[in-house]
Amino acid sequence: MIQISSRHLLAINGGDPIRKTLLPYGRQSIDNSDIKAVTDVLSSEWLTTGPFVNKFETRFSEFTGSKNAVAVNSGTAALHSAIFAAGIKTGDEVIVPAITFVATANSVLYLGGVPIFADIEPDTLLIDPDVLHHLITPKTKAIIAMDYAGQPCDYGALREISEDHDLILIADACHSLGGKHKNKMVGSLADLNVFSFHPVKAITTGEGGMITTDDDELAKKMRTFRNHGISTDHRERQIKGTWNYEMVELGFNYRITDFQCALGISQLKKLPHWIERRNFIAQEYVDLLKEFPEVAPLVNKSNNLNAYHLFAILLQSEKLQNQRDFLFQALRAEGIGVNVHYSPVYLHPYYQCNLKYTRGICPEAENIFPRLLTLPIYPVMQEQDLIDVVTAMRKVINAVS
Ligand SMILES: *Cc1c(COP(=O)(O)O)cnc(C)c1O
Repeated sequence: MIQISSRHLLAINGGDPIRKTLLPYGRQSIDNSDIKAVTDVLSSEWLTTGPFVNKFETRFSEFTGSKNAVAVNSGTAALHSAIFAAGIKTGDEVIVPAITFVATANSVLYLGGVPIFADIEPDTLLIDPDVLHHLITPKTKAIIAMDYAGQPCDYGALREISEDHDLILIADACHSLGGKHKNKMVGSLADLNVFSFHPVKAITTGEGGMITTDDDELAKKMRTFRNHGISTDHRERQIKGTWNYEMVELGFNYRITDFQCALGISQLKKLPHWIERRNFIAQEYVDLLKEFPEVAPLVNKSNNLNAYHLFAILLQSEKLQNQRDFLFQALRAEGIGVNVHYSPVYLHPYYQCNLKYTRGICPEAENIFPRLLTLPIYPVMQEQDLIDVVTAMRKVINAVS
């Protein structure tokens, strides 16, 4: 009688999992200095619109090499503010990558704009500068590039196209804080650069976001936009000793608190070390994954420092391609928090049913999507965690091949 040891039986089929607890795909690193930074502000005078907002903005603009930084309460609020500052109005077209988080394209819709989806390069999943010429019309006002997985886009090519057609270039840099393109920091590569501080991102404030820009006028517009469209904030009025304020734009309450900003300052100090650590883990993955010819990591261009927010792989063999969803479930059952980033945005029901986008507009993105899987990566991930990921992959790939 053949004995199947439970070690080889997939956990999804009742076998023993490689890990008892789920290894998440990303998570925050919080230490005592972060906690102290937050609690110190909690016992201070200003919980919001206080001095820590400005301090965080100053540190952030120093770090990214950008003239201005404007802090808001989420990455999505940052995108919305950037699109507002770019002057996008009803009917204006904005080019966005097909593969990104939905918020990139949604921010265009918030102001009545029309997202025009651009296809991606299949080896990096970054917006393909070569397709942009076909998409630009007299209605095009801006391009949003997204630094997928932490690798900066080709901002040289994107800048040239934007300047030729008088378009505003926006970087959705929610994945790439701490990265570089040709030795220039992310945050200084586009006209407006957008960041998120959600816990899975490079640094966290719980929820939070930032926009950097060298343009003082755009920065001023976004400061007004985050505060109901009012041209002065509470603290400025208190300092000036006046009650009077003027609402000059239709803005929102996108203000971030001072204790969140204190956390952001504390986190930013540790970011360079975390980026090194993410690069180390990514290199380990690249080496270990050579064992599996059925999968391939994305191509990392030599003129970039990748911030490795995600470690994405592409399923190469035909056998695996048709089984992505099974692989996902099977690896999850083994305790490995794999994920999929992202479905082409226009395939979501809202875009298909409400906005009538059709299938087939970005063939590369649609081809790649069923082959995509992201593996856990974050700074405090340990050597044993990496070994668990590879062991689980070996187990699952052997079972399906
Ligand atoms: C996280 C993320 C956002 C949105 O950020 P939130 O802080 O969650 O609102 C936008 N775009 C991309 C590419 C992201 O990864």
